[in-house]
Amino acid sequence: MSTRRGFLKTAGLMTAAAALWQPSDLFAKDPVSKGGSKKLELAWEDFKGIMKFTFHISGSSRTFTPIVITRITWDGHVGYGEAAMPPYLGETQASCHEFYKKVVSDVFPKFDNPFQIEDIMKAVDKLTTNNTAAKASIDIALHDLCGNIMGQPWWKMWGFDAKKAPYTCYTIGYDESDEKLQEKLEEANWNKIIKVKLGMTEKEDKRMIDFIRARDNRNIVVDANQGWPDKYYALDMIHWLKEKGVTMIEQPMSKYNLDETAWVTERSPLPVMADESCQRIYDIPKLKGAFTGINIKLMKCTGLYEARQMITMAEQNHMKLMVGCMTETSVAISAAAQISPKMEWADLDGNYLLGNDCFNGMKLVDGRITLEDKPGLGLSKKPGIIKL
Ligand code: MG
Repeated sequence: MSTRRGFLKTAGLMTAAAALWQPSDLFAKDPVSKGGSKKLELAWEDFKGIMKFTFHISGSSRTFTPIVITRITWDGHVGYGEAAMPPYLGETQASCHEFYKKVVSDVFPKFDNPFQIEDIMKAVDKLTTNNTAAKASIDIALHDLCGNIMGQPWWKMWGFDAKKAPYTCYTIGYDESDEKLQEKLEEANWNKIIKVKLGMTEKEDKRMIDFIRARDNRNIVVDANQGWPDKYYALDMIHWLKEKGVTMIEQPMSKYNLDETAWVTERSPLPVMADESCQRIYDIPKLKGAFTGINIKLMKCTGLYEARQMITMAEQNHMKLMVGCMTETSVAISAAAQISPKMEWADLDGNYLLGNDCFNGMKLVDGRITLEDKPGLGLSKKPGIIKL
């Protein structure tokens, strides 16, 4: 009887509790609600990222990078994103503006929940064929926003180990002046890995490496930026570079020349990574065998949502992973840093190459990426640089 009495008592209490509880209570007590508009709202502001040094790579040189900073607000919460657009990739601040107008009119009205990142990004991606940096700026802002709402960083929510975050490379562009090269080496003296941009003439490429090696015993990786003319030349250069202590080669030949690249990779004593050949996830299947691995850049692949899928696909195909960047502010660099524990190499020095970064974000400590326990992408705006 006592058991039955106990049951009846418990059942009675449960009924009373059910009568008191209303579904709306859940929403009213939502600890993250700030009571703002439940519409996704997008704003943007142009930014000119001024480089500390004139940047020379095979085929071009420049002193600044056009950037657009985006901001998405929802329910009083805020997330920031970024489109960084080296001119050779074809996007401009004006093309971003046009794209954002389409996002505002055609995509955001269909969603009232920023956590639907997959569906939102699929709809954003369908708007146009290209505009990958503009798309990435939406993706990055959504991740920052949702991470801020959750009060957690993404590397943690994805289950990554912050201790596995790698050292970053620091990029030294081509320079014909020995004094300038020396200056760049000194600017990078805090860093453990130097990435040297090659792909000029054989004489100039070898001069750069000899100059650096004579003064510096740090780990060197090389990015040829598609600059080497054929497979025989590329393989000879790779053997010469290995003797100089170089440990990795990025994009030796034209992005279209996969057959010759496969020939080189098969014989190369160093890993050969795809950069220009690997833009988006659907490039990966055709790169298997042609390259040892892929360099993922958020501005090419439309952001973290697709980058995470690329990581999985590359791992399934036993390909090595690298994360890279354009010259970007701490907004996009801090986004890319979230996936860095999965990477063998990281080239996330973009914010350090800028003289006028507008945000605080991911910090390097002795050249190593550090992932802090801060919500979202861990960003804070520097005062007085942008209005957004
Ligand atoms: Mg590259």
